[in-house]
Amino acid sequence: MTDLYTRHQAVLPDWLALYYEDPIEITHGEGRHVWDAKGNKYLDFFGGILTTMTAHALPEVTKAVSEQAGRIIHSSTLYLNRPMVELAERVAQLSGIPDARVFFTTSGTEANDTALLLATAYRRSNQILAMRNSYHGRSFSAVGITGNKGWSPTSLSPLQTLYVHGGVRTRGPYADLDDAAFIDACVEDLKDLLGHVRPPAALIAEPIQGVGGFTAPPDGLYAAFREVLQQHGVLWISDEVQTGWGRTGEHFWGWGAHAASGPPDMLTFAKGIGNGMSIGGVVARAEIMNCLDSNSISTFGGSPVTMAAGLANLTYLLEHDLQGNARRVGGLLVERLRAVAAQFGGVREVRGRGLMIGVELVEPGTDRANPRAAAAVLEAAREEGLLIGKGGGHDTSVLRIAPPLSLTVAEAEEGASILEHALRRAQ
Ligand code: PMP
Repeated sequence: MTDLYTRHQAVLPDWLALYYEDPIEITHGEGRHVWDAKGNKYLDFFGGILTTMTAHALPEVTKAVSEQAGRIIHSSTLYLNRPMVELAERVAQLSGIPDARVFFTTSGTEANDTALLLATAYRRSNQILAMRNSYHGRSFSAVGITGNKGWSPTSLSPLQTLYVHGGVRTRGPYADLDDAAFIDACVEDLKDLLGHVRPPAALIAEPIQGVGGFTAPPDGLYAAFREVLQQHGVLWISDEVQTGWGRTGEHFWGWGAHAASGPPDMLTFAKGIGNGMSIGGVVARAEIMNCLDSNSISTFGGSPVTMAAGLANLTYLLEHDLQGNARRVGGLLVERLRAVAAQFGGVREVRGRGLMIGVELVEPGTDRANPRAAAAVLEAAREEGLLIGKGGGHDTSVLRIAPPLSLTVAEAEEGASILEHALRRAQ
């Protein structure tokens, strides 16, 4: 154990989750690689937990940050702030939400918190619909709408939350149905729920559940939900913290796979847009965003240094069509991983969209989650120079692959080969 780990354990909370038996101290990065304090180099298939949207140490972002920091770091929404207005204009336009207003926060948690504030104020209801197995952050209100109980440490939420079926396609009561019947069953379930409660403020959902193990419903589920929600005036909030900015390849936002009934009323974002700098935010239709009847400010939301990073990062993403790259390279990687998985009895499914790929591990020959194998694969991959993530429901048995979106075909191949070895070693 390193000295830093001992000091970490002595002073930081026990519940602060850390990867690896001998945790890594990352000291620098470049492109799709990072290095640890011992000088080991890793291919990064987890993008600093999805925060590195484009590439590590992207020169364009570093330059924008240092130039802005050299001018002023001062932050307050009480004054006009050019980078904040510019990024808000671009995000509003990209959001797909009509008459969009943008509010910047410093994290995904705070973004969801703000969306809850807006929805409950707009609808005068503290009742929220959330998905089973969901993750929405670590604040008091965010854990209150987090269905994944491994990440929801209190039940004393100020919100009344009702959990809805449908976020997980391959497990649960409707898993054996085909896609259309699955959607019908979930919609009937939602209708039944709405028939028995006061009208809720909103439904919040991740289009693909991130912490929950990169699991998604069939395309169109949220469009079908939206029709029912609209009959009751219930808002739809799409939590795009992991699925935004083209990561899923086919769509710029995860809600794009559920667009038949129009865009969501609000979306929340964070993680990747700052390439590691702390940017989160909410986009909402103006009538919802402006429903608060007293002032509000944010000291650090929209800080000019983070906004400069966001602008440079977004420009790079769009100019280099990294969404297209996610689609192409992600498609090849899924195919390659499916071929790898076919050799092992313990892989239940390789699923994915773009560069958001899950590999679900089970006890060979059964349907039982295998968290022990997932932990062993993570350790083995790390030893061979590959960082990946893990997630899932109550059992953390899904390997999560989410590299920076500039991943090359050669790097995808290299990572898949390492994963193949790691799976073999962990058998
Ligand atoms: N929503 C989703 C879907 C997330 O995955 C996360 C972070 N894992 C959050 C919200 C919370 O974001 P943050 O950690 O920036 O507060």
